[in-house]
Amino acid sequence: MTPDDVIARLEQLRARDLPTHGGRTLAYVYDSGIAEADELGRRALAMFGATNGLDPTAFPSLLTMENDLVALARDLFHGAPEAVGTVTSGGTESILLAVKAARDAHPHVTDPVLVAPTTIHPAFDKAAHYLGVHIVKVDVDPHTYRADPAATEAALDVHGDRVVLVAASAPSYAHGVVDPIGDIAALSSARDTRFHVDACIGGWVLPWVEDAAPWDFTVPGVTSISADLHKYAYSPKGVSLLLHAHPSGRRTQFFASADWPGYTMLNSTVQSTKSGGPLAAAWAVVQYLGTDGYSRLVATAIEGTRALAAGVDDIEHLHVVAPPDSTLVAIGADDACDVFTLSDLMLEHGWLVQPQMGFRGGPATMHVSVSAATAASVPEFLRVLRGCVSDAVAAGPIVVDASLRAVAESIDPATLDDTTFDGLLQLAGLAGEGGEVTAPARMAPVNALLDVAPPALREALLIAFLDRLTRG
Ligand SMILES: *Cc1c(COP(=O)(O)O)cnc(C)c1O
Repeated sequence: MTPDDVIARLEQLRARDLPTHGGRTLAYVYDSGIAEADELGRRALAMFGATNGLDPTAFPSLLTMENDLVALARDLFHGAPEAVGTVTSGGTESILLAVKAARDAHPHVTDPVLVAPTTIHPAFDKAAHYLGVHIVKVDVDPHTYRADPAATEAALDVHGDRVVLVAASAPSYAHGVVDPIGDIAALSSARDTRFHVDACIGGWVLPWVEDAAPWDFTVPGVTSISADLHKYAYSPKGVSLLLHAHPSGRRTQFFASADWPGYTMLNSTVQSTKSGGPLAAAWAVVQYLGTDGYSRLVATAIEGTRALAAGVDDIEHLHVVAPPDSTLVAIGADDACDVFTLSDLMLEHGWLVQPQMGFRGGPATMHVSVSAATAASVPEFLRVLRGCVSDAVAAGPIVVDASLRAVAESIDPATLDDTTFDGLLQLAGLAGEGGEVTAPARMAPVNALLDVAPPALREALLIAFLDRLTRG
């Protein structure tokens, strides 16, 4: 293929994706609405795409940019001068490393425990799973959806010296509320236990929210913070920060191996060879927008979020699940319509809202992440949403066939073989007659069925779906 052919083909492929800009994709992507910032990010990404962060002495440019970003975050998060940090590839990697650092700080604890609210991001489940740490989930307050300090204290008492890390969110992804960081920090510091604040999505927002409750290193006892630059710093994907209050907290994050005949491997992150592109892109966008720029973008996004939440509460049959503490809103519906149908209808009108399955007896909801670029279109969003609610009410909520529900509830996914999964995927509407996987145009019937499936079955079905999707 000629270069022109290749680009034409890439453009053709891209055309089927969700739009990353325009402010109507309300999950997965974050849009500042500032074309010059995007262009700068793309140029820096291309300039540094071939550099390798494996060895910061070989590419000192990367070391400089990493230290610059960490220093800025240290100031924003009110870290002491000795606070240190690392640029990682994303929130999941920041969290993996925080859990690894905590685990390895206690080599004598043979059965380490991580205590977190049920609303914590599943990156902590993944870290616990990968690292052989036991995760203990504590129920949140049923009214505020915030972590419950008394219940957290009880869990800490039960697990005692096995607890190597406590974690909470600022804010939580599913409900958009900030956990009571001060109360939990008091509990963890009284036990001399590490406390990680997951500010992956709030870290580049909350520093500019005037009425935000304390959530960062100003709170004594907060030992590490994760903050994604590829979310509200509006950088291209592949970049997050992990900060530690003190260098001693970071030492066990690192890994070195001299036990082979090649170079001595020395890594601060999970990745070894890593592109300098995302780091350079984040550095470029952050320099360009600057703290004043973020202050304005946050003001815009927060104003948009509050207008959106107020507007949703005015729509009959809808409600906001919890008053938003930052830029995320969870939307609930009453029995007249269902959120899966609503999400499908919204997508048909060009708006992506993200369905969230029911959890521990609670109903399904819809997630919305408001970017600066979305704020101006909030009235339009509300107008479309209102229309979709009427249509969804007219269509009526999806009813999952009782026998199908019974099947879903009775299956033990551990006992299923590949052929059975093929059958179940067809039954769920995720595969066609010949077993070929399809992303159906209307997801609502599939989502409604997945919603009644026990979580373990839902996980197994979606893994089987992904497996078939990637068999080529
Ligand atoms: C996005 C997010 C993560 C995970 O980050 P990735 O960048 O998707 O790996 C963790 N915690 C919260 C609260 C998030 O919003």
